[in-house]
Amino acid sequence: MALIVQKYGGTSVGSVERIQAVADRVIKGRDAGDQMIIVLSAMSGETNRLLELAAGVSDRPTPRELDVLLSTGEQVTIALLSMCLEARGYPARSYTGSQVRILTDSTHNKARIMDISDAKVRADLDAGRVVVVAGFQGIDEHGNVTTLGRGGSDTTAVAMAAALKADECQIYTDVDGVYTTDPRVVPEARRLDRITYEEMLEMASLGSKVLQIRSVEFASKYNVPLRVLSSFDEGGQGTLITSEETSMEQPVISGIAFNRDEAKLTILGVPDHPGVASKILGPIADANIEVDMIVQNVAADDTTDFTFTVHRNEFARGMEVLKQVARELSAREVKGDDKIIKISLVGVGMRSHAGIASKMFSTLAAENINIQMISTSEIKVSVVVDEKYLELGVRALHQAFDLKEDL
Ligand code: ADP
Ligand code: ASP
Ligand code: MG
Repeated sequence: MALIVQKYGGTSVGSVERIQAVADRVIKGRDAGDQMIIVLSAMSGETNRLLELAAGVSDRPTPRELDVLLSTGEQVTIALLSMCLEARGYPARSYTGSQVRILTDSTHNKARIMDISDAKVRADLDAGRVVVVAGFQGIDEHGNVTTLGRGGSDTTAVAMAAALKADECQIYTDVDGVYTTDPRVVPEARRLDRITYEEMLEMASLGSKVLQIRSVEFASKYNVPLRVLSSFDEGGQGTLITSEETSMEQPVISGIAFNRDEAKLTILGVPDHPGVASKILGPIADANIEVDMIVQNVAADDTTDFTFTVHRNEFARGMEVLKQVARELSAREVKGDDKIIKISLVGVGMRSHAGIASKMFSTLAAENINIQMISTSEIKVSVVVDEKYLELGVRALHQAFDLKEDL
């Protein structure tokens, strides 16, 4: 008898028919003797619909109230699946985040899970019930409802698996695994049988939204075997995310990630003195704006140009802050561009291979794609380019690094 956590995303619970199909799969697990914890998202489109309702009444909805609103989506699906299972003779019980007691910090809209009480869930499992948990939500120490950030049901699932010491956490979605890149952009992308936590963490943090980044952090920290599978077909093995690098010959590049959510801000002609970087980025951090890439160029006239990227949602606010900074530092000009994207190559094999970055740059040059910013780490190379080159750039790189070939 195994303990399995299964998570179903929005499209997998997008209608009553889809919820029936989820019940079929859960019943199969129960009939095989497994204990089952099911974590659900809201129906596809529901979280966006709720966000639009909020936008209809406020330009800046109160974060606490937004969480009260957004957490309702998942309450619908957990109730429906539990009813469906019970109607078919399989005892089940639904739990909201606060009913389980998924304790989080108080950072509304992107709360972090601190602790999960397992007593009630364990008792239900031992009594032969299927436990159905609302993803994406928790409760803080003051009793406020919190949510975990978009895509947060993945994190609920992995955290439940870690807390209950499940044998496997299975993420059911609308693709049959993790691919070399988003199959919606590159149809010839290849499904990976396995990927390491480290690579998946990079892919997720660089924009591959197939798994929320925090879910991968949790899985890696607590060594939860994590598998991404399709809820639409039967029998596939999906992609296993593990700590082991199993194949003898690791491919140099595992995948290509891209991020459409970035925007670029530049302050030009700043006097080049010690401390200038912190004078620019300090006020940005004080405004709670996260910075991703940073480039500084020093000109011959002892001034410096400073460019950095932020989330596109923070672009307007970032520009306001930077204009104020420019006045204080007597900088020449502030420029911004929210029509950029970031493309990244990821692979642990990069550690032992030279020439990946230069091959990436020559591939993009051959397509006449201008690179605006570059950043590298041990296992990734990222470039910022004009957003109109997203498909062209990703496809050219996928081809150049032979990712579609079976290795
Ligand atoms: P769910 O609603 O089930 O959580 P998501 O939309 O969050 O599903 O994640 C699945 C989607 O992730 C896929 O439809 C796919 O377009 C996208 N995706 C992005 N990068 C990748 C990748 N490397 N491999 C697989 N899917 C990816
Ligand atoms: N419903 C939430 C969202 O759309 C959480 C999730 O689906 O994982 O982001
Ligand atoms: Mg998701």
